[in-house]
Amino acid sequence: MNATYDKLYLFIDGEWIGGDARETVPVINPATQVELGRVPLATAADLDHALNVSQRAFDVWRNTVPNERARILKRAADLMRERAERTATLMTLEEGKPLAESRDEVLRAADYFEWFAEEARRIDGRVVPSNRPGVQQLVKRQAIGPVAAFTPWNFPAITPARKLSAALAAGCSVIIKPGEESPATALALARALDDAGLPKGVLQVVFGVPDAVSRQLIASPVIRKVTFTGSVPIGRLLSARAAEGVKPITLELGGHGPVLVFEDADVEKAAVDGAANRFRGTGQVCISSTRFLIQRGVYDEFVERFVSAAEALVVGDGMQPGTQVGPLANPRQLAKMEELVADAVAHGARVLTGGKRIEGQGYFFEPTVLADVPMDARVMHEEPFGPIAILMPFDTLKDGLAEANRLPYGLSAYAFTSNARTAIDVADGLEAGMIGINQYRIIATELPFGGMKESGHGSEGGAEGIEYYLTHKFISQV
Ligand code: NAD
Repeated sequence: MNATYDKLYLFIDGEWIGGDARETVPVINPATQVELGRVPLATAADLDHALNVSQRAFDVWRNTVPNERARILKRAADLMRERAERTATLMTLEEGKPLAESRDEVLRAADYFEWFAEEARRIDGRVVPSNRPGVQQLVKRQAIGPVAAFTPWNFPAITPARKLSAALAAGCSVIIKPGEESPATALALARALDDAGLPKGVLQVVFGVPDAVSRQLIASPVIRKVTFTGSVPIGRLLSARAAEGVKPITLELGGHGPVLVFEDADVEKAAVDGAANRFRGTGQVCISSTRFLIQRGVYDEFVERFVSAAEALVVGDGMQPGTQVGPLANPRQLAKMEELVADAVAHGARVLTGGKRIEGQGYFFEPTVLADVPMDARVMHEEPFGPIAILMPFDTLKDGLAEANRLPYGLSAYAFTSNARTAIDVADGLEAGMIGINQYRIIATELPFGGMKESGHGSEGGAEGIEYYLTHKFISQV
């Protein structure tokens, strides 16, 4: 299928700036390894310009009445929906996921803009009775200031959407640096916001050498808030940079999601849906279920059903109808899968299916299921972020919870049981920010998305999501 790709730009002060006078890097289709286009890298002067503009535009946008901010965000959501087919095509070309999943992601990204358009109208405050006669005390919530946002390549619509929708609704201006590997999708969101009437300079989209961009932006006194989605090591680095300027940071840093399957569960559902969930997005999903802990009495049945569901998945180019699992997004991820499997096997793990890259064009890796993986294998500690599932038995609820909570991650966790008591105990006991009971597809616009422990802090989405772009101020008046 010969779908076309878009020209790529920086977007600063309402101007679409092409790459003619700037260094560029290629964007590669991970299914074909063909160069789709070249993304311009912002210079230090571009970033300074973006910072100045963001400061100026913040003063305009925070004073724009909530109804007007809401109207623009809603209009942008409508445009994203109208353009969903085109944006989904761009996403599949640059990131690799099946077209239907890209379409779904664009529509869910639009939902965030609609949700936070409504929230923009509800940034109210409080009147607090004073203990001193004649004193009026108010608590106001106000936009925190210009935001620096960094998003990765794996969900190029929904991750920028979660940050932009809440920040813009709050009245903040934003400089966003999306992943350079899938830039066109984020630019499509920016185009929708621009066409919806977002004032010039309220949003800038920049690409560049990630480390240099984050260093310059976070150090600037203009930036009052930082938000990042990506790996734990980079999250830690940006956290330290934000701390230098005493700036709040929201971090969404991935996980190693456990699934507890109890003997009283619907084992078939847990296994079949589990395989679909584990290999969705080629496993490059931070809230994915990665460690399947199965109570011993149903272990063999679960393994059989899970492996056959994994083997039935259709791997291929996301542009082809019928594809269920696309390529990995880049060669780094492919090399990492090979390393993790080799290391697990060297430590004594059994490969029940998959385990190899698929020869030919594209960064394809077989859906892989590992069993009997010893604790000293890397994959038992590191987020696989690719199509590898680990199956292991457990005996009691206490043992299962101990294994589920063993790692420093705490993003998503899942449990399957038909016993209400077990469901309550396991939901209370799991150390994770997002928990699915008897289901895997749990994310919703109206719920707070975020983790605990080293998976990060802060929430995106839900009524909570806007708080991270607001500051509290009290006014005490006699
Ligand atoms: P990474 O953390 O190096 O990169 C993730 C994103 O952060 C990229 O888009 C990159 O441009 C950006 N980035 C990298 N260094 C940066 C810096 N110094 N300043 C600002 N931005 C920076 O991860 P990766 O190599 O792309 O992927 C490897 C691992 O990262 C994965 O195995 C996974 O664990 C994790 N990851 C998690 C998510 C998530 O959704 N939480 C997304 C992507 C990657």
